[in-house]
Amino acid sequence: MPSTKMDARELAQYYGLPQLPWKYRPKDARELDPTNPCQLVEIALPVPLDQTFSYRYARPTETEPAVVGDLVVVPFGRRRKVTGVVVGVQGLAADAREVDGVKLKDVGQVYGPEYRIGAERMKVARWLADYYLLPLGEVVPLFHPPAPGTKARGGRTADELYPEVDKPLFELSAAQKTAVAAGSTHLKSQQFSAMLLHGVTGSGKTEVYLTLIEEALALGRTAIFLLPEIALTPQTLSRISARFGERVAAIHSGLSAGQRCLVHEGAARGEIDVVVGPRSALFAPLKNLGIIVVDEEHENSYKQDEKPRYHARHTALVRGRENKALVVLGSATPDLESMNNARNERFELLELPERMGGTLPLVEVVDMRGAKTVEGFTPALTEAMHETLAAGQQIILYYNRRGFARVVQCTSCGEVVMCPNCDIGLTYHLRPRRLLCHYCGHTENLPETCPDCGSEETKPSGGGTEKVELHLQAHFPEARLLRLDRDTTTRRGSHKKILAAFARGEADILIGTQMVAKGHHFPNVSLVGVLAADDGLGLPDFRAAERSFQLLTQVAGRSGRTGNGRVVFQAWQPEHPVIQAAAAHDYQTFIDDELPARKALGYPPHRRLMRLGVTGKKQGEASEAADRLAEVVRESFIRPGLTVLGPAPAVFPRLHDRFRFQILIKGTLNKEEKVWLRGVLASLRGSYRGVDVVHDVDPVSVY
Ligand SMILES: [Zn+2]
Ligand SMILES: [Zn+2]
Repeated sequence: MPSTKMDARELAQYYGLPQLPWKYRPKDARELDPTNPCQLVEIALPVPLDQTFSYRYARPTETEPAVVGDLVVVPFGRRRKVTGVVVGVQGLAADAREVDGVKLKDVGQVYGPEYRIGAERMKVARWLADYYLLPLGEVVPLFHPPAPGTKARGGRTADELYPEVDKPLFELSAAQKTAVAAGSTHLKSQQFSAMLLHGVTGSGKTEVYLTLIEEALALGRTAIFLLPEIALTPQTLSRISARFGERVAAIHSGLSAGQRCLVHEGAARGEIDVVVGPRSALFAPLKNLGIIVVDEEHENSYKQDEKPRYHARHTALVRGRENKALVVLGSATPDLESMNNARNERFELLELPERMGGTLPLVEVVDMRGAKTVEGFTPALTEAMHETLAAGQQIILYYNRRGFARVVQCTSCGEVVMCPNCDIGLTYHLRPRRLLCHYCGHTENLPETCPDCGSEETKPSGGGTEKVELHLQAHFPEARLLRLDRDTTTRRGSHKKILAAFARGEADILIGTQMVAKGHHFPNVSLVGVLAADDGLGLPDFRAAERSFQLLTQVAGRSGRTGNGRVVFQAWQPEHPVIQAAAAHDYQTFIDDELPARKALGYPPHRRLMRLGVTGKKQGEASEAADRLAEVVRESFIRPGLTVLGPAPAVFPRLHDRFRFQILIKGTLNKEEKVWLRGVLASLRGSYRGVDVVHDVDPVSVY
């Protein structure tokens, strides 16, 4: 049994849970004098226990009682101090030291009102805790900066924004005007509403967002602009910054703790009207929020894949509802769930079917079967590249594998060199020369002999971006190359440098992984080559087709932004409907095929999904815990509308030296079922020390 003497870290260890950020230090908090008149407060703390904690709160002065939402620092366990939030307040006799025989500890410090989680954000916090089955204390850290109260040393956060690029000013197209008019009506109504802006790549969605934000500000309201990955979208940032100047601030991982506090405090005091950033920007303490934009709303990065697991798009809709605000979701390839909501009239659908100042590129699907390929390049793609280079234009090549060779295989016995921690083949990298596991980061030298049969003949097989780069150096010696993948972007700011260099025309060819598919505007790119268009289709995941369609459409959309563009999809299954639909820029056909397929299998958006993942170092222990969990869940969830699948080994049955099992629950749990499941998960976590149990509500993948 865990003892009440254990501090939060010990409890986390006891339950085998990932560590939470414990770095909170009171920087700018007021000390409380325990001899003052006091109150009894309930506090939610970021500890892995599904409960709140009672403390004694001595008022700083007679006129300053504790308020629900106050951010406080309290002693926890023997030595630790933890930041939490007041979720309930009662009166208490001035000299009371205990309640029901339990000695009360005193709240140590309280932060200023900028850090108070106001009623509206508190409702969002409670919704997150309830919907995602999380202790309230675990969602609270989303609502304040990691080190509240830290002073920033000089510098404005706007310095982190990018200088304006030359920005062509178009008059709004008819379709843009329609979208703006619809949004504007919603803004003026002061009622919650959601809009799905489906605009093809290059159709000017950003201009619609910015115009609507301007209208919201004119109405005296504030705005949040969410971007999937800030490092990959410098151009959008610079446009927002140019438009709103000092009233906008960005939140991103490059900010220091002090700068984050500066943004937070500025937003709380009303000095900042627009906050832009990745999913964490959604929780900024803006008052009178009028509009939330979720750009590239289909992106997976809106789902936080570690504790607390939540989806920022869904949460944006909840925050919008609490503020009677307009939520605008935008994408060239909307998530199936969003489009389904639009079709069911929960969202208003607005379309931007045409590109501004250009047409969509022509896509050629090239059959790899029987083609005389050289290192993965078909003659058709090679020829298109020569033509493009001869015309002085730029090329983007997309290949979603980094490194030099996907696997290293023995030519005698066929054995593949595996990661010792994961059931995954190691990838061969040239610079530096080593074998690397892309899941756990394990690295080792290339073996001289086969670990299985001792043969000296091992062969790297399957390609990667490094190999493509070498091929281009040999076959296009005159072309200047840049590579964008996780290996070339380990240094801070390197994304931005590579993208900026390519935008300035300092390279002819940009080769990269899916990072090259994100929303850049490169006016001189007239050819996009996809080396293996069917690469993602074989993934054993119910979203494989949707992800593939999105990626192909997005990467193709980089071509011909200001003129005639072309795209080559190389494919082993050129007739595959997903590849055909992406080549034809035909979103409607794609979802008309995909929605019924999802329905037939009972997958989202038709039914909700919850994944229960059980992992452990010992296979037997993890398997036993998974069996027990599945058994109790299956016994209790016997009703129409709920299906329990599993347990089954996960698609990757061993990663990071842990065996992985999973159980899927299809359907929507009611209130009692959620409470029951929370209890079951807590007790399972308590009874198996070496086993970690995670639950993921609305998982974006089921690997
Ligand atoms: Zn590994
Ligand atoms: Zn061998």
